[in-house]
Amino acid sequence: MRWLVQAQAVVVIALLGLVSSACTSGLDERRSISLGSTTRGRIFGGKRLAYSGPGYRQPARWRARERRYGTGELVNLIRNVAARLHRVDRGSVLAVADMSRRGGGYVSSHRSHASGRDADLVFFQTDLQGRPVLAEQMVSFNKTGASRAGLELRFDDRRNWNLIRALLVAPEAQVQYVFVDENIKTRLLAHAVARGEDPQLVARASDVLRFAGRRAPHDDHFHVRIYCSSRDRVLGCKDFGAEWDWRKKKLQPLVAKKWKPGPPLPTAPTLAPPLVAERVTPEPPSVEPDESRSGPRPSALP
Ligand SMILES: [Zn+2]
Repeated sequence: MRWLVQAQAVVVIALLGLVSSACTSGLDERRSISLGSTTRGRIFGGKRLAYSGPGYRQPARWRARERRYGTGELVNLIRNVAARLHRVDRGSVLAVADMSRRGGGYVSSHRSHASGRDADLVFFQTDLQGRPVLAEQMVSFNKTGASRAGLELRFDDRRNWNLIRALLVAPEAQVQYVFVDENIKTRLLAHAVARGEDPQLVARASDVLRFAGRRAPHDDHFHVRIYCSSRDRVLGCKDFGAEWDWRKKKLQPLVAKKWKPGPPLPTAPTLAPPLVAERVTPEPPSVEPDESRSGPRPSALP
């Protein structure tokens, strides 16, 4: 396998010269190439996400890890989606966790994240009064939207749905999966329906939001994976898993330029209070048993 990647690398490096000489400065993503699969691939000419920008930041614990590289498509997707959300909702500040290493390849504590097409995004959280809280850590939430650890935090249905929505309609890249806990998925879809979202959009969200198994529950963050761009596919980028039948269809009808996030919906009356009233010591950085080492591989999912 390794020799194959290396052989492809030689070809790609040769092609890179052609590509970069042919592209204009405004099309940075053309300079990056995702090669191979998300579990064994590499990135050539990967782009680095700045530590912070309009509507997003990388919390300190992840900055030290220097896993903030991705293809141009992925970096632009995160940056632009965060900025769009922030423009219509100042309380929307996305916390970005691990992406890929410079050049890609194996990333400890992750099964994938090798080829610049995966990013972990921390859930939006609120305090118990519904005010946005800047995420410094990943917090696990249960199906009622309460913190499993008893922190005085709640899963922010509205902003988390807005994020999924924005990812689905973004022109920068096509999202293949957003790995997430099934209870969280249920919450998000219920919120979208209650909000009166386009059924076509809700159906796409239902396809993309994916439970990766109990060993990788993803109940404290979204793991976003984008497809290979059509150009990268030709050069050796490999997609595995679902090819949604709507993938090639234009999202234009769903991209409302003047979209507004709308007011928060009333909180469900069945929500349980947190078990502990005060904050507990933050846990160490989430070491993602990403899609599990022994369980089914995300790339093998249907
Ligand atoms: Zn991940």
